[in-house]
Amino acid sequence: MHTLVDPFGRKIEYLRLSVTDRCDLRCFYCMPEGFNDFEEPAHWLTFDEIERVVGLMHDMGLKRVRITGGEPLVRKDVDDLARRLKHDVGVQDISLSTNATRLSKQAHALRQAGVDRLNISLDTLRPERFKDITQGRLDKVLDGILTAKAEGFTPIKINMVAMKGVNDDEIGDMLEFCVEHGFTLRMIETMPMGDTGRNASDHYLDLQTVKKQLTQRFDLIPTIDGSVDSGLIYGGGPARYLRVAGTNTHIGFITPISQHFCETCNRVRLSVDGTLYMCLGQEHNYPLRDLLRRGIPDDELKEALIAAIGLKPERHEFSEKPEQIVRFMSMTGG
Ligand code: SAM
Ligand code: SF4
Repeated sequence: MHTLVDPFGRKIEYLRLSVTDRCDLRCFYCMPEGFNDFEEPAHWLTFDEIERVVGLMHDMGLKRVRITGGEPLVRKDVDDLARRLKHDVGVQDISLSTNATRLSKQAHALRQAGVDRLNISLDTLRPERFKDITQGRLDKVLDGILTAKAEGFTPIKINMVAMKGVNDDEIGDMLEFCVEHGFTLRMIETMPMGDTGRNASDHYLDLQTVKKQLTQRFDLIPTIDGSVDSGLIYGGGPARYLRVAGTNTHIGFITPISQHFCETCNRVRLSVDGTLYMCLGQEHNYPLRDLLRRGIPDDELKEALIAAIGLKPERHEFSEKPEQIVRFMSMTGG
């Protein structure tokens, strides 16, 4: 029976699981340059603890887990965790969000472990610009992306944070790149998460306008259900998709600011320190780590999880209260 239902009747089927708050890049909209104040390893949930929480949530209706961070591939043996969640717990769909810097070395093991789908962050195809945005090297990332393609991951979704005056002149080129490789492109609006996200909001770009501009260069066809996909093919997430005519490439628009999608929100987030967050844009949370380490029995842990879901707020308030979230995206698990 599905028991993870929030006070607004939304079934919680999807967990964003952050396995680390660390990262080998410093995307300016996400993490401050030089930032080093990370969670202590002793506070990280162990794989056993994660497996236990996910297992109980799975008993109560959880269907999908996205492994994320920070950069998930900086945590050792993430493929092992994926294997355990997929094969021991039985989670139907395991996906992973990554910046792809370490993907060329890990794509094979992740595929073998049962990771179904990858979301890869890529904001630009220009090496200098990539360095300016992330402090990292584009060639390593492209190498990782092409290795993942060769390993047979499908669909591969490229997540591009669209920013005025930063990369808004490259959106068409990025779509061409995705058409060439058979990837899906997802455009994301900047969100005011932490000071970094708020500063990036100066570059906020309304994706409704981008969509109109793209139709001048591409023949874009609405997907069959008209707008929001809810199936596993595209991820059951908040993106609204169009297809590039004559190709299998889709472009999705994730518009938390210009057109929020809270009424269909089906997810919660577990941070690396074992705090369950109910919403990216709100503070409502439920700390689980101490309960786990005090040896809470399964039935009580299930009650705690139900109580946590009971805290889920109706919607974010990014527009009304942009100052309210002090956590960077990498702390909650993007
Ligand atoms: N490191 C991995 C990556 O970059 O894909 C996974 C974690 S990252 C926090 C997840 C997603 O959050 C990325 O697609 C990133 O672009 C996005 N993100 C981070 N900060 C953001 C912000 N302030 N506004 C919008 N998206 C943001
Ligand atoms: Fe790292 Fe991802 Fe944040 Fe960039 S968006 S700093 S890659 S966690």
